[in-house]
Amino acid sequence: MQWETVIGLEIHAQLSTQSKIFSASATTFGAEPNTQASLVDLGMPGTLPVLNAEAVRMACQFGLAIDAEIAERNVFARKNYFYPDLPKGYQTSQMDHPIVGKGFLDITLEDGTVKRIGITRAHLEEDAGKSLHEDFQGMSGIDLNRAGTPLLEIVSEPDIRSAKEAVAYVKAIHALVRYLGICDGNMAEGSLRCDCNVSVRPKGQAEFGTRREIKNVNSFKFIERAINTEIEWQIDEIESGNKIVQETVLYDVAANKTKSMRSKEEANDYRYFPCPDLLPVVIEQSFLDDLRGKLPELPPQKRERFESQYALSTYDASVLSASRELADYFEAVEKTCGDAKLAANWVMGELSSLLNKDNLEIDQSPVSAEQLGGMILRIKDNTISGKIAKMVFEALAAGEGATADEVIEKKGLKQVTDSGAIEKMLDEVLAANAEQVEQYRASDEAKRGKMFGFFVGQAMKASKGKANPGQVNELLKKKLEG
Ligand code: ADP
Ligand code: MG
Repeated sequence: MQWETVIGLEIHAQLSTQSKIFSASATTFGAEPNTQASLVDLGMPGTLPVLNAEAVRMACQFGLAIDAEIAERNVFARKNYFYPDLPKGYQTSQMDHPIVGKGFLDITLEDGTVKRIGITRAHLEEDAGKSLHEDFQGMSGIDLNRAGTPLLEIVSEPDIRSAKEAVAYVKAIHALVRYLGICDGNMAEGSLRCDCNVSVRPKGQAEFGTRREIKNVNSFKFIERAINTEIEWQIDEIESGNKIVQETVLYDVAANKTKSMRSKEEANDYRYFPCPDLLPVVIEQSFLDDLRGKLPELPPQKRERFESQYALSTYDASVLSASRELADYFEAVEKTCGDAKLAANWVMGELSSLLNKDNLEIDQSPVSAEQLGGMILRIKDNTISGKIAKMVFEALAAGEGATADEVIEKKGLKQVTDSGAIEKMLDEVLAANAEQVEQYRASDEAKRGKMFGFFVGQAMKASKGKANPGQVNELLKKKLEG
């Protein structure tokens, strides 16, 4: 049986406001437990929430960026449940009247195709506190610093068809909220968390299968693994004659298994009702028009501009526009060297692997955009070959020179283009390989083609990579044929 996967994601993005969504407490990450929780965050009797206008503005920016309708009037509701990290006994959220309605986001898949993912809604809500289970001699502690931190919950349509697509979508949301400056996107600190709803159905079947929801996955790698593990498990279950039961599960990273946490609750279990402490929020058209005018260039527009302005492939353009910082870096390299193709190749090739290897972000790059651009200029004017450039790049990364020119000078890496000097070196190479020269001259065209590479290799080795490869090819041919 052929199976098809159906996935819908609920992403919680912490909005990077200074203060909480309904109180003046600070939202700084990592403070001493319970130093940033006020009476309002604890829901003490007699306190009243005051909505943070900045959180509303950020939600609207997001809505505009995904071409969504923004509700003229949105309403906060209480979602009632008991949990130790929720002292109010309810979470203030939005239910029937979310601030952001239907929109969409285009994602680029690995093969370069673009797929549109529907976004059902995005609503404002508050985060809960955190239970801490370590270091308390068998007891648990509760840290309420996070209680009341503003969240934007972004709910996708079940349009996603594989774990890879899910990762591409989360990456696109991640890039978008960072472009907008409404969320720092720090997944390790929980600033962006993802619930993955997964089901499978026989290929060709119209209705969806029963889904299970994997709660709170917090890295791209784990999203892919958790979903793939879940898909395998579901297919296995169904093929063994069992039925999937709708459930909420947790992904156990160490065991690479999804484990049942609780049976799925329904909306009516939560006794949602409009929050009597908060007025409906009315959003004026002029406010939205003003925000729309101030939106920065967003990933899809940047990608399209990179394709047309720099003649890059869709894939290259989407990689380079994936984050604002990377895009800025690429454009700075391009500006210095005036060669978009080489700039793209170096940023996506050597530079990316260097950053990956040392686990660095682009703004921590040991090679600046100006240094890299300056080095590419030297490839273009034939001062160095592409191969030598890798050595120059490594030297720049190691701090062995302030500019490519300085490294080239200090290490004597300048390309040899003096044809007299190259000829002399070639004569020595041919003399040292007299037997092969004889063989070459006795061979037919096809065999010669193959042997030619050997001589080029020897010559480049003899010149320590510094001879101009074009000239070496040309002069070698002459000498061998002559
Ligand atoms: P709930 O309110 O119970 O969480 P929703 O209908 O709001 O349920 O859906 C939550 C998420 O689950 C959405 O992202 C949606 O796209 C996704 N989803 C719904 N049905 C399925 C399904 N059968 N398989 C996979 N995902 C689904
Ligand atoms: Mg849900």
